Amino acid sequence: MRVLITGVAGFLGSHLAERLLMEGHEVLGVDDLSTGQQRNLKRLGRYSRFSFLRADVRQPLEVEGPLDWVFHLASPASPPRYLKLPLETLLVNAEGTRHLLDLSLAKGASFFLASTSEVYGDPLVHPQPETYWGNVNPIGPRSIYDEGKRYAEALTVAYYRVHGLPIRIARIFNTYGPFMDPEDGRVVSSFIVQALKGEPITVYGDGSQTRSFCYVDDLVEGFLRLVEVDYPFPVNLGNPEEYRVLDLACLVKELTGSSSPIVFQPLPEDDPRQRRPDITLAKQLLGWEPKVPVREGLQRTIRWFKGAVREADA
Ligand code: NAD
Ligand code: UDP
Repeated sequence: MRVLITGVAGFLGSHLAERLLMEGHEVLGVDDLSTGQQRNLKRLGRYSRFSFLRADVRQPLEVEGPLDWVFHLASPASPPRYLKLPLETLLVNAEGTRHLLDLSLAKGASFFLASTSEVYGDPLVHPQPETYWGNVNPIGPRSIYDEGKRYAEALTVAYYRVHGLPIRIARIFNTYGPFMDPEDGRVVSSFIVQALKGEPITVYGDGSQTRSFCYVDDLVEGFLRLVEVDYPFPVNLGNPEEYRVLDLACLVKELTGSSSPIVFQPLPEDDPRQRRPDITLAKQLLGWEPKVPVREGLQRTIRWFKGAVREADA
């Protein structure tokens, strides 16, 4: 297959690209490097079947040659990053999604949207099944991301209904692993970097809010299984192993052997209280469930971060 991946310099985009390249496919990666990392492009550059186009997908995209799939992953994804890029975030999910849907139509390609558990907002139903419509503050600080993704889903399903475009929508829950950006402020990367440097581990609020953490290889396997089925509606992909943020901080401390103190800082506005995927649909439809327990995934991730932190300090 010849596939296009937007957001290829990012955490998930680079993992997806590498998996597809290893399976023998040709990958055209697109990124504007707004939150992505050169180091990921360098890693992908080792494959002769990888090519890269630096472009901002808020503008229409011209691509030569045929395409079988378009994977749209471009979007700032960590809260500190998207809060700094509010209009860019809304528009990459609105205009960017439209341009990639149009490109898919023009090329006769299928379209894959990286959506998010944030469409459930601060959920009142727990765990969250795909049938739950969510509880999103439409004008709160996080709305640029949450509503951007909700619009992207609506637009994608409309292209399916109006044009018959083959589509897939993955609702991704918090994912972690090697090649995360150590600086992007997400909870797993922040806690690991703080623990490895012996700096205070910053728990927001009292740490009783929960998240469920999926190892990146499991997520990418879920993506590829979703490609294989003909199902044009959202599918939750995540690991139901749920942690209180404070417990995650303690686990990272234990696994790194760190003596960092845990400090408490104010909870950001509209920070969801709880989040855990109901993956019944993914199990039935894809025969998929995560294989890597959080403790093991964190150990692998910590090993990678040790190298990344050393490199940054060198
Ligand atoms: P990331 O920030 O590491 O990667 C996003 C990439 O998109 C970056 O390389 C960035 O430079 C690029 N990008 C942003 N705006 C662009 C634009 N206008 N044009 C071209 N490229 C642009 O984030 P990630 O964690 O890899 O997330 C990838 C996708 O998955 C995002 O759409 C995100 O919303 C979704 N997602 C991720 C998670 C997660 O836990 N990592 C959870 C839910 C959803
Ligand atoms: N969080 C934290 N300390 C940090 C970063 C995040 O306590 O240094 C909390 C954050 O408030 C949220 C959870 O960890 O409750 C997950 O945050 P993240 O930014 O990784 O993703 P979110 O699921 O909120 O998009």
